[in-house]
Amino acid sequence: MNIRSIEEINEKIKGGNATVLTAEEVSRLVREDNPPVAEDVDVVTTGTCGIMSGTAAVLHVPVAEPGAFKKAKKIYLNGVPGFPGPCPNEWLGSVDMIIYGTSHSIHDNNYGGGFLFKDLVGGQEIEVEMESTDGDIIKSKTNISEIGTAQMIGTRMAFKNYNSFTNPSDEIVSSIFHAIDMTGPFTGISISGCGQLNPLQNDPQTKTICSGAKVLLNGSEGIIIGPGTRSNREKPNMMITADMKQMDAHYLGGFKTGAGPEIFDSVAVAIPILNEDILKQTFIQNSDIKLPVTDIRGRHNVLGFTNYGEVWEGSDERPVYHPENCLDCETCIVRERCPTHAYTNTLNTKRCFGCGMCAYSCPNNAFTMNSGSVVFNVEDKSIDLPIICRQSDIKRARELTENLKKRIENGKFILNNCLD
Ligand code: SF4
Ligand code: SF4
Repeated sequence: MNIRSIEEINEKIKGGNATVLTAEEVSRLVREDNPPVAEDVDVVTTGTCGIMSGTAAVLHVPVAEPGAFKKAKKIYLNGVPGFPGPCPNEWLGSVDMIIYGTSHSIHDNNYGGGFLFKDLVGGQEIEVEMESTDGDIIKSKTNISEIGTAQMIGTRMAFKNYNSFTNPSDEIVSSIFHAIDMTGPFTGISISGCGQLNPLQNDPQTKTICSGAKVLLNGSEGIIIGPGTRSNREKPNMMITADMKQMDAHYLGGFKTGAGPEIFDSVAVAIPILNEDILKQTFIQNSDIKLPVTDIRGRHNVLGFTNYGEVWEGSDERPVYHPENCLDCETCIVRERCPTHAYTNTLNTKRCFGCGMCAYSCPNNAFTMNSGSVVFNVEDKSIDLPIICRQSDIKRARELTENLKKRIENGKFILNNCLD
């Protein structure tokens, strides 16, 4: 039985009286044997940040003066190919287009849609190249202010269930599930998922996370438009849309993998505590959440299981950079591998994702980071694998979850009632 309605929660939010806890705060209280009761909590905020391949943008891009060309046949932004349409915009000099976060630049193997979206949201100037249906090539520049519409659609976001990946073979395997080609056998493990902070881990039956619910997508107020592709009851995810003009570039970006550049996003979701059952779902602990360890070749062969306690408890959010240990190698393997371009000759902490590739790769300990290890059994043998790549960023997930909590406490984020 419900003890309060969303309307009553919203009245408290508007009055600045709502009690909000993050999912990690709830989990900690439970661990301390001091679990909260529904009467005392109005909202629990949750969040995640990781590679979300199903991300696309719908843009309306100014290209030339009206009348300069009839229709666009091809269009590239910073060399990343998009799809003109569906509106033809005949003779308007502008192009409606859809562009994927996973598309790769035709000029630069290390650049793709995720990097483009970060540059666009961050206010950078973007190179436009368009080929018209008459074969004319027009080049111009634009930015987020000039672009009329910039709407992100994530077709499959904030998955509840992830796999982790290792390579049990001697083959070298290229995959989007690892930042570099993965060697084997059993050299390490690549993981994804934010465990007990993940929205759908805290509402696994999607009792409150439903179509029409408001969320934060990369810092912009967005909305859940339905279950994401391949979502099902056991393995739910969400389809989300939000205005890119309201996003914070910190929360999204490109992430290079062994199979080319991908995109990461951050999502935060508020869970209204309508009754004790809904609150109890948020008591989940990292150690209770199973994480399958899967063969990176084909991704369906489960070799064993670990849990998110092993992944996140006691591990560092970020590496420590020790410039005094850097030997200025002729080819810097960290610079080559850093998936977000955070390390050039210095460390740009704002771009860092905490993936751990630098600490794993640098032969001279110029980077150190405790990213932990996982133990699992294969054919009665216990295997201890170092976590060599994290494709989810717990720090950004925590930041956005906290950001959502503050917005609710300050009366700036009112919940939608999508339950009726
Ligand atoms: S590989 Fe390590 S020691 Fe060598 S230049 Fe890069 S950071 Fe410095
Ligand atoms: S943890 Fe290291 S490799 Fe990963 S993004 Fe940060 S600097 Fe780059």
